[in-house]
Amino acid sequence: MPTNKEVRVRFAPSPTGDLHVGNIRTALFDWAYARHTGGKFIFRIEDTDRERVTDEYIAAALDTLRWLGLQWDEGPEVGGPYGPYMQSQRLDIYAQWAQKFLDQGDAYYCYCSSEELEARREAQRAANVAPGYDGKCRSISPDELATFKAEGRKPVVRMRMPEGQTTFTDLIRGEVSFDHNFVPDFVLVRGDGSPLYTLAVAVDDVMMKVSHVLRGEDLLSSTPRQIRVYQAMGLTEDQYPEFAHLPFVMGQDNAKLSKRNGEVSIAWYRDAGYLPEAICNYLALLGWSPGDDREDVSREEIAQLFTVERVHSSPARFDMKKLEAINGDKIRALDLEDFLIRVLPFLQRDGIISGTPAELEVVRQALPLIQERIATLAEVTQMVKFLFVENFTVDADSAPKIADEQSQAVLSAAFDSLSALSEWNHDAIEAALRATLIEGLGLKPRIAFGGVRIAITGSHISPPLFESMELLGRERSLARVKASIA
Ligand code: GLU
Repeated sequence: MPTNKEVRVRFAPSPTGDLHVGNIRTALFDWAYARHTGGKFIFRIEDTDRERVTDEYIAAALDTLRWLGLQWDEGPEVGGPYGPYMQSQRLDIYAQWAQKFLDQGDAYYCYCSSEELEARREAQRAANVAPGYDGKCRSISPDELATFKAEGRKPVVRMRMPEGQTTFTDLIRGEVSFDHNFVPDFVLVRGDGSPLYTLAVAVDDVMMKVSHVLRGEDLLSSTPRQIRVYQAMGLTEDQYPEFAHLPFVMGQDNAKLSKRNGEVSIAWYRDAGYLPEAICNYLALLGWSPGDDREDVSREEIAQLFTVERVHSSPARFDMKKLEAINGDKIRALDLEDFLIRVLPFLQRDGIISGTPAELEVVRQALPLIQERIATLAEVTQMVKFLFVENFTVDADSAPKIADEQSQAVLSAAFDSLSALSEWNHDAIEAALRATLIEGLGLKPRIAFGGVRIAITGSHISPPLFESMELLGRERSLARVKASIA
């Protein structure tokens, strides 16, 4: 459906936990669509459920979006013409609309207790009819009303769903229809006066002039209810936002990814050393394609190329290995200073450095050695810690590997050869060790250098050995080889 409305797209999470892969994929597509069309990206916090939403989760949501570079044009902290953008600050607005719907006869008070509703649902199930509100309180006799009031019942406000069906064109799924036999009258306001999602989301989308609702497929079935609210608000069909429901993101096991799964929260990936640009790149490819086979897209390219037509309608599968590979590529693409800035928080967090200029210089020199060898920033700690430990000892699981007679003999020969070196640089070190261990003793490189690597770095995983020894310096290198000889 062509539209000449100004494009206004919103990301509207309910921060009842950390944002996870599925939420952020939605946020990214919302942002990309707004950027691609030159429209506005609105960030709205749906925090009416104050028992489950916390201030920490809200702060974390803002932080996550900012970290990913998905800057919003309107929303918390930046404001905008249709604020406030926190639903908890808009309760009066929802109450006014609910009252209007009551006055218009679109909505009605419902006094049914949850026990009564449950009993009737049970009966519906037994009779094999679609369960849902049966419309009992659409008309209440004055006597009944008096009784309910005398009992002190607090009514909910319920929207009247007319007979018929709701049909709309989803930009991804095409024409979608819902028969109202399966969309019973629904609650807009709870007995305590608090609004439900369906009321708040629809009112806000209208009042914030949202033109496009791109969101997860799990919300598809709430669309006919939202459209019903638009109608009660007096909108005509051409004034509804366009809908595009994004396909599910599945886990590798084919189960739906969920925000309760801490392993898929974006905060977890950040702590594990994933780059924001890698996450955006990977998530962009999760259900969308740039139009060719490329797997490397920058945030700017995503914004440039994003169209809803290229969003797939089938579920996408989250593949941790692929994310890791993309992350490794993005790490390799960093220039040295940028790489340094990104790894410092990890090294400080892990207690490897405190951040003195001298330490930074050592890290700066070590980084080119490891840039090709890591897939996440957190791996830097393991790679460089040998350069910073005071009382160095070989890891408990690596120590036995150099305790046997042959390894000890190799280490002794290496020590003698290194002690005789007049210059200390990686070429000289390599030449000396090759001459002694490979040409002299006839050892294979793995045997020759494996033990020295463990003696020097404490582990069999390390940056390239000779460069590592140069960086560590003559004195400390010789001391470590010596210490490894029993
Ligand atoms: N607040 C809803 C949620 O987090 C999404 C609202 C919407 O996109 O319509 O599930």
